[in-house]
Amino acid sequence: MIYLDNASTTPLDPDVLDAMTVYLKEEFGNPSSQHSAGRKTAVALLDARDKIAALAGCSSDEIYFTSGGTEAGNWALKGACLARRGQGKHLVVSAIEHPALIESAKDMIKFGWEVSFVMPDKDGVIRPEDIKKAMRNDTVFCAVMHANNETGVIQPVEEIGGICRENSVFYYCDCVQTAGVLPFPANCCNAAGISSHKFYGPNGFGALYLKKGSPILRLISGGKQERGLRGGTSNVASAVGCAVALENAVKNREKNNAKIAEIRDAFVGRVLSEIDGTHLNGGSYRLPANANISFDGCTGENLALLLDMKGVAVSTGSACSAGAVTASHVLSAMGFEEDRVRSAVRFTFGKYNTAEEADTAVGLLKSAVAQIRSVRA
Ligand code: PLP
Repeated sequence: MIYLDNASTTPLDPDVLDAMTVYLKEEFGNPSSQHSAGRKTAVALLDARDKIAALAGCSSDEIYFTSGGTEAGNWALKGACLARRGQGKHLVVSAIEHPALIESAKDMIKFGWEVSFVMPDKDGVIRPEDIKKAMRNDTVFCAVMHANNETGVIQPVEEIGGICRENSVFYYCDCVQTAGVLPFPANCCNAAGISSHKFYGPNGFGALYLKKGSPILRLISGGKQERGLRGGTSNVASAVGCAVALENAVKNREKNNAKIAEIRDAFVGRVLSEIDGTHLNGGSYRLPANANISFDGCTGENLALLLDMKGVAVSTGSACSAGAVTASHVLSAMGFEEDRVRSAVRFTFGKYNTAEEADTAVGLLKSAVAQIRSVRA
């Protein structure tokens, strides 16, 4: 299989698996336990937190472990709004956020809060001036992601952070797609989420960075884990794996980004020049891995299915919810016609992809597009 869906998830690095195996097999004590088995894993948990904090450029007590990016986003949005209840009831959320944020914002609407969803421009960029315009006296929370998961478009988070600071608004920056790829923007936000399976770590694990002094209530009540803000027995093996994976990603960032961008750029160049009726979605300031391309006369679902049968894994911008395919909210918000939205496919490259794989994928893509178009003609 040629795997071109690295924004969806990535395989585990071999050294991550080795590091985790120790804590799954030999050192399995509960880090909250008093005995020596527990004390050993408590130290491992502490080390993992220290390592992740150092890589993120923050202090260890600003890192809270979670089950991933969805929980981090839910917690930041709901926890910050509830902590600031009485000070305002308005949220500013970009219209291209991951459902973790969009759906959390919709949950708050059910409880009487108001949300302004800010649209991107046609390149997929959320403009700082639009965030500024959306701010009200009663705004308490803002979410604009570091880079979008469908288009890869990188957002002006420094400027948006500045606007939030000026307005005393809690700023959450979803860094799920950028951790290990871009420098972590700890300085410009109150909180940020990362997810370890996006950088060759284990699935179902991530972290919330929460700047000291930022108001938040807990969502998961229970034991005293995560300094009393997130109950539940700690996932030591995944914390250890996440730290090793992030360390690998940061250490090899320049090298991997350059290699991935080169493969991606050659792929995009060939697709756009060799297949008629193709359109690249998203401006040029994108993550090195992403290429979101629409194909006239195809649907993204059919193309992804046919590519899968030919041995290439990609994803569409569309989400499948309750058995129904819904068009990408991101491409729709960018103002594209329905045909362009529905014919989009996301190709995301990773460090294990090769130039040969990308070339083979172009050939298979050409034949898949031709097949679909011939049926529809
Ligand atoms: N935020 C973004 C931008 C994502 O791309 C994803 C996952 O694709 C998430 C949040 C959710 O992360 P997780 O899979 O860890 O729940």
